[in-house]
Amino acid sequence: MDDLELLLDFHLGSARQGPGGDEETALAIRLAGLEGAKGLKIADIGCGNGAASRMLARSLDAHVTAVDFLAPFLGELEAASAEAGLSDRISTLEASMDALPFEDEQFDVIWAEGAIYNMGFKAGVEGWRRFLKPGGVLAVSELTWLTAERPAELQAHWDAEYPEVDVASAKMAVLEQAGYEPAGYFTLPERCWLEKYYRPMQARFDAFLERHAHSDAAKAIADAEQREIDLYERFKAFVSYGFYIARKV
Ligand code: SAH
Repeated sequence: MDDLELLLDFHLGSARQGPGGDEETALAIRLAGLEGAKGLKIADIGCGNGAASRMLARSLDAHVTAVDFLAPFLGELEAASAEAGLSDRISTLEASMDALPFEDEQFDVIWAEGAIYNMGFKAGVEGWRRFLKPGGVLAVSELTWLTAERPAELQAHWDAEYPEVDVASAKMAVLEQAGYEPAGYFTLPERCWLEKYYRPMQARFDAFLERHAHSDAAKAIADAEQREIDLYERFKAFVSYGFYIARKV
């Protein structure tokens, strides 16, 4: 198994593959002002097994194109949407977020929770803009500093892991420069990290390590996640995901 397959195996069966929650997806939907709109075309990019795709399809008059480059997540998403009676409102697409096969102005809404970092916030918001209709909505969550200054240890960790991490005002400037009007913002509360993401992940550690006979590669994944969890717990006052809602100008 290569590292990507291992990571996939680690996350399969989880409710979400990044920090987030249904209440926060619902809040972003409200801030985006989408309720009442008819026949929305939405792309959920880096959808994983589709917690947000299902919320969007359930709460709006919409068709959701759920995109991920890992087919097994899309398989889980299809099973879960069938179970929820949402199959006719969600279609899946296996594609990379930096090479999307979409037409210009194809979508009313582009959604991406805990995923845009894979191509980088700036590259993502710039690259995806052309797929939005004029006035269309972009809603993305992104690792964000909560304060102007933060402890050196935390800064060093995220500078190495994700150098684009920044304060919300800097992310909003990126959105403005890329041709969007910032329209809403909130940060994910602790619950979205601990209860919804890290605790269920920790509960999968043992079975995961056993499935892979405690291989060095499997241990490395679990250890890295545990280090990230420790760091989050120590420094949660300084870092979270910001949820950015913006309108294409
Ligand atoms: N939005 C989901 C998943 C977040 S995890 C949630 O909030 O639960 C990030 C997702 O991005 C994973 O499913 C991963 O497979 C996907 N991903 C990573 N790199 C990608 C790429 N280059 N193209 C498409 N999807 C990608």
